[in-house]
Amino acid sequence: MLFDRSGPGADYERLIAVQDPGSGLQGVLVLHSTHLGPAFGGIRRARYPDEASLVADACALAEAMSFKCALAGLEAGGGKMVLFDHPGLDRRAAYRAIGRFIEQLGGGYVCGPDIGTGDEELGWVRAETGFVNPLGNDAAGMTARGVLAGLRGVGRHLDGNPSFEGRSFLVQGLGAVGSRVASALVAGGATVYATDRDAKRIQWAKDAGIRPVAVEDWASTQADVLVPCASGGLLDEEVAARVPVGAICGSANNPTTGRDAQSVLAKRGVVYVPDLVVNAGAVIEGVLTMTQGASDAVRQAAKRQVDKIEATTLELLAQADAGPLPGDLAREMAQARLGKEPA
Ligand code: NAD
Repeated sequence: MLFDRSGPGADYERLIAVQDPGSGLQGVLVLHSTHLGPAFGGIRRARYPDEASLVADACALAEAMSFKCALAGLEAGGGKMVLFDHPGLDRRAAYRAIGRFIEQLGGGYVCGPDIGTGDEELGWVRAETGFVNPLGNDAAGMTARGVLAGLRGVGRHLDGNPSFEGRSFLVQGLGAVGSRVASALVAGGATVYATDRDAKRIQWAKDAGIRPVAVEDWASTQADVLVPCASGGLLDEEVAARVPVGAICGSANNPTTGRDAQSVLAKRGVVYVPDLVVNAGAVIEGVLTMTQGASDAVRQAAKRQVDKIEATTLELLAQADAGPLPGDLAREMAQARLGKEPA
């Protein structure tokens, strides 16, 4: 399993098993690439049926971080720690043990938030090491800023106009990122539809001037742009063949089920912006504040760098007009910067 070369991220540099019997901690750290600098990536804590699925997820997620950093022009590599979540896990002790482990690595890996790892967990890690996304960073806010930059790039690509005014958007998922994106789109004069499984989020949407759509109706809701900000993998080939939107651009990791679904979108002329390009806002802020200091000036510089996602999106979509899938192009651009052969 460790040397199975078939899946995404299987060409990693190091895979380290992490275990702390006292707390019930079991997981892996994958350092996918440190070619451009230390590996940055969050700690995911989730239920997995077995070791193989945990390792495969860690490899794919670590690779995505390497690619994201490379595409964002950062002097940083990609990694990911993935832990088994289970009822017997002593979270506080587990995350303290993780902090000691990260400290031993001496800066080769810098951790941040992910599914299952929020402010509380990072606080426990921070008690043991400084190689953690700095306090005061705004991961969701910066990710939303990057999505909005990507959406301006989509507008420029479609008709030369980056403005949201007069356009319609369907935001899928009104959590930390989606709610910020949806609010900004409303403020920008757009018509905004949104779905969320959480009734409280829908009530918030109504109060914010957003038009709610039933969760099961998202794939039949007409809009200029679909903005996936929920979980990944919701756009399979069948949905890709009929979703009535002109473009797709959002923060969700891997919103499509893969290349086949992206091909279907391309054949229909639906513009697709890969998540690797668009959802780099948090890691841009994380890398700059870790390497240059968590000052206001550095945070302003991070915002300017996140805004460049607009230009990257435009460039990628222009190249995709010549035929290649945007997802393939993004991977090729990242691999070139990482000095890796295309898979
Ligand atoms: P979140 O958990 O705060 O919000 C997700 C929202 O989606 C929740 O409100 C949830 O109820 C809703 N949801 C889940 N499944 C749904 C479905 N099938 N239909 C409709 N709504 C659904 O997460 P977030 O931090 O806002 O992140 C959103 C996405 O962006 C995730 O895929 C995440 O991995 C990705 N992402 C987030 C960041 C970040 O900085 N937060 C960075 C990069 C990528």
